[in-house]
Amino acid sequence: MTLEVHTARVSYGGPDRLDVTRKSGTQEGLCFAPSWALLRQAHPKLGGKMSWAEYEKRYTAEMRASYRANLPVWQALLGRQRVVLVCYCSDPDRCHRTVLARILGHCGALVRGEIPGVEPGPVKVYVDGLIAWGDRYKGAQAEQARRVGCRNGHRWCHMFTDEADCAELHRMARKIGLRREWFQGDHYDLTPGRRARAVELGAVELCREDAVAVWRRQREGARSLPRPAGPPREG
Ligand SMILES: [Zn+2]
Repeated sequence: MTLEVHTARVSYGGPDRLDVTRKSGTQEGLCFAPSWALLRQAHPKLGGKMSWAEYEKRYTAEMRASYRANLPVWQALLGRQRVVLVCYCSDPDRCHRTVLARILGHCGALVRGEIPGVEPGPVKVYVDGLIAWGDRYKGAQAEQARRVGCRNGHRWCHMFTDEADCAELHRMARKIGLRREWFQGDHYDLTPGRRARAVELGAVELCREDAVAVWRRQREGARSLPRPAGPPREG
């Protein structure tokens, strides 16, 4: 039996799916995921800069090490009939899933290529609970933030996403009347009124613990997501 290897975007929901991302991979999938150390150096959204050729080389080296460290997992995968390697990247030609498929090809698998037409799944935008921060504003927009905060008992929440791509977060911000310059690099701060509007438009409400869990999970890979505490810096 020869393994047939396909690749697809992460929202592929069909049979034989294997999530090979560091962010959400299963225990099996993590054996084939690039390390956080490599992602931090390579991923533009994580502040990394690396050529595709260099990334491919480094990832291949990691997979060589993984093969030695996780031989039974590799053998089990190669013993399957079919697998669909999935990752978040929209361009399969610039994604480790394609490199991994090629590596598996060197191990004897048949490389079948990308399953086209898998649309990205809905991106989640989250808000946490309102907290009265008190009158402690910092930064360039502190005065404006203070004026707005005074009207609401200085109660604010964070609006954020767990996607590396913030496009959907900015779209939601625009819909509820926030300016792009109020983006805090990883989140927006919301007044009670804007929070209610965001929830109306589909933002998911998270309790403190769940929000912290999202941040903790993300902090492993990126420092680009909201810190669990901190007063608002804008209006
Ligand atoms: Zn990828």
